[in-house]
Amino acid sequence: MPSYLFAQLAARMPAADRPFIETPTGRIITYGDLVAGTGRIAHALVARGVGPGDRVAVQVEKSPEAVMLYLACLRAGAVFLPLNTAYTLAELDYFLGDAEPALVVCDPKSRDGLVPVAERYGARVDTLDAAGKGSLMERAAGEAPDFADVERGADDLAAILYTSGTTGRSKGAMLSHDNLLSNALTLVDYWRFTSADVLLHALPIFHTHGLFVATNVILAAGASMLFLPRFDADEVMRLLPKATAMMGVPTFYVRLLQHEGLTREATRHMRLFVSGSAPLLADTHREWRERTGHAILERYGMTETNMNTSNPYEGDRVAGTVGFPLPGVTLRVVDPEGGQALPQGEIGMIEVKGPNVFKGYWRNPEKTKAEFRDDGFFITGDLGKVDERGYVHIVGRGKDLIITGGYNVYPKEVESEIDAMPGVVESAVFGVPHPDFGEGVTAAVVAEKGASVDAAAIVKALEGRLAKFKQPKHVFIVPELPRNTMGKVQKNVLRDTYKDLYAR
Ligand code: AMP
Repeated sequence: MPSYLFAQLAARMPAADRPFIETPTGRIITYGDLVAGTGRIAHALVARGVGPGDRVAVQVEKSPEAVMLYLACLRAGAVFLPLNTAYTLAELDYFLGDAEPALVVCDPKSRDGLVPVAERYGARVDTLDAAGKGSLMERAAGEAPDFADVERGADDLAAILYTSGTTGRSKGAMLSHDNLLSNALTLVDYWRFTSADVLLHALPIFHTHGLFVATNVILAAGASMLFLPRFDADEVMRLLPKATAMMGVPTFYVRLLQHEGLTREATRHMRLFVSGSAPLLADTHREWRERTGHAILERYGMTETNMNTSNPYEGDRVAGTVGFPLPGVTLRVVDPEGGQALPQGEIGMIEVKGPNVFKGYWRNPEKTKAEFRDDGFFITGDLGKVDERGYVHIVGRGKDLIITGGYNVYPKEVESEIDAMPGVVESAVFGVPHPDFGEGVTAAVVAEKGASVDAAAIVKALEGRLAKFKQPKHVFIVPELPRNTMGKVQKNVLRDTYKDLYAR
């Protein structure tokens, strides 16, 4: 068996002259270019001493060559390890020490700072810039395009993705060839991707969404992508006529709704809009539908599990839900303490099992053991419920649950009430230490431009709508919520900012 995942994707590739990636400037990388380019890079990796199972850590700007580097790692039997471009040298020190890669590929700008760190952990350094230039591609240019793929099986590691680590140090999630392949094939089928599709790709490629959900699905369908270096509403609107589908985080949809070019006419040819990585506000879903006639398809996944659930392709895409477990994925909701299954409709911890679920945390057997049940279910850390129609609802991360005076408050319930008020764009509800209650329910609210929303009025309006213990003890009106690059609201930042709010 040659390199499992790459071999399976290669078997599905269309004719060599078909496009795989097109850039906004009109540069086209065909499937033929992809095979030859990854062959050359795979040779270059081997020449740099990268052997089967070795990690290749990559912190580079988005480019077609960066995608080829991922695929070349698969062909060389190496483990691809992408790193967020925002990480600082001090953070890279931790990742390189933990992962001990054989090779680090970085932007030429960070090379000088990185070399001493990489050397300390025995890694070599190559460069790759946003234009696809650098020492890696110089080495690859001198190599032959044919490469005999290193043999890898279904359970061998294809990638390690570090989790964003909002609690404690970030951990490396080990993803096997089959974790990635099985999920890509399921999604191609579920979302009806074919070789005629053109995906508008504006996501970063160091995260599971832009890297695996988007890229692997396109490869497995033999389709193509329009590859934007980053999200830019004007660029998306300019290129949309060439696309058939888009995958985005909720922020993309919020920003596009502010673009006057977004109309029914401008999106008539589109087949599918997918959202994930953070909750899509029900309002955004509704406004998008009113403006374009398209119901955004929301799905739920995580670094460790790939995609778990999705709203249906045909049938109701219900706003505020993440749809049904994907084929092959078993999902259950349990009591977070004891782990017993809860009756349908009750809120508890979401656990999943299936070929999509990762192999454990890199060099961290204790953490791996703590997050799996004995029967193989992975404890996601997300709280949610399954409604009477079988749709899964996520109410937030378990660690964001607020316990006040002994009562559980699910932030989403309070946020939904606040978000529905006139003049409110969105809100984040979180707990901070409180001398009497343990935690005090606290809200940060973003108001619409020009709207006169005041904190006291929000508190007042909630009085008749929520039980007393769920009502925020303090509401702040803020210009925006702190978010990470994937659009997730960083409640840890809010908790930290307001930690002394109720201190005596
Ligand atoms: P990451 O590993 O960075 O992809 O983050 C995964 C986490 O993002 C999940 O555990 C959820 O908490 C959250 N998430 C992903 N998709 C959704 C969604 N559609 N709705 C709500 N939360 C989501």
